[in-house]
Amino acid sequence: MSESTLRIGLVLPDVMGTYGDGGNALILRQRARMRGIDAEIISITLDDEVPESLDVYTLGGAEDYAQRLATRHLTRFPGLQRAAAAGRPVLAICAAIQVLGHWYETSAGERVEGISLFDLTTSPQERRSIGELVTEPTPDGLTEPLSGFENHRGGTLLGSDARPLGRVRHGVGNGVGDGTEGVVQGSVLGTYMHGPALARNPQLADHLLKRALGVDTLAPLDLPQVDRLRTERLAAARRG
Ligand code: GLN
Repeated sequence: MSESTLRIGLVLPDVMGTYGDGGNALILRQRARMRGIDAEIISITLDDEVPESLDVYTLGGAEDYAQRLATRHLTRFPGLQRAAAAGRPVLAICAAIQVLGHWYETSAGERVEGISLFDLTTSPQERRSIGELVTEPTPDGLTEPLSGFENHRGGTLLGSDARPLGRVRHGVGNGVGDGTEGVVQGSVLGTYMHGPALARNPQLADHLLKRALGVDTLAPLDLPQVDRLRTERLAAARRG
């Protein structure tokens, strides 16, 4: 691995990685390599301390018990908190949004303290939200609809320091009735979209890559397969 290698942290894939969310790290690596940028994935498991100096971090979804193990680990080894404080980009999927908030309640009604990277809280809702999700992104530079598959019972209420990642056009999203989906706070992004999210949303992948590399633009990639996947998924959401 050379000095200039882009280091992508795949955080706790042993406990947070349901629905193929580890694929987000693969997409980042692939989109970097296709532009001639060296990139490596560094898996950080429950046996490892969390390093604070990687270039970008991804975390996946999980059910209650696994989510709790991850929360404990990230509290004990606060490398992710330091990385976020230094402005390094982080992508948190589903349960990871909840872990990165102030607290979340499990489906059994137990409250678990999170790591407060996001100003938000999560409580179980009466109905589980399952299905295709499409949103209109709100951050500057994201112009294309985001799409993914949601499957969560938690409903996430954003505090004043957190902004939504998107406005829901189809599906449920954060699930507290305000039409928001996901979260953005500083360099940390969260979404309820599985898919993996970055396979379906190349613009979001490049948004994270630009921040990780400290550049304003990246050479465009011509990938008809990805365009096709997007067209199919957006059509599936429209069909309902
Ligand atoms: N256990 C959480 C919920 O149901 C997260 C689930 C997930 O990551 N898919 O809200």
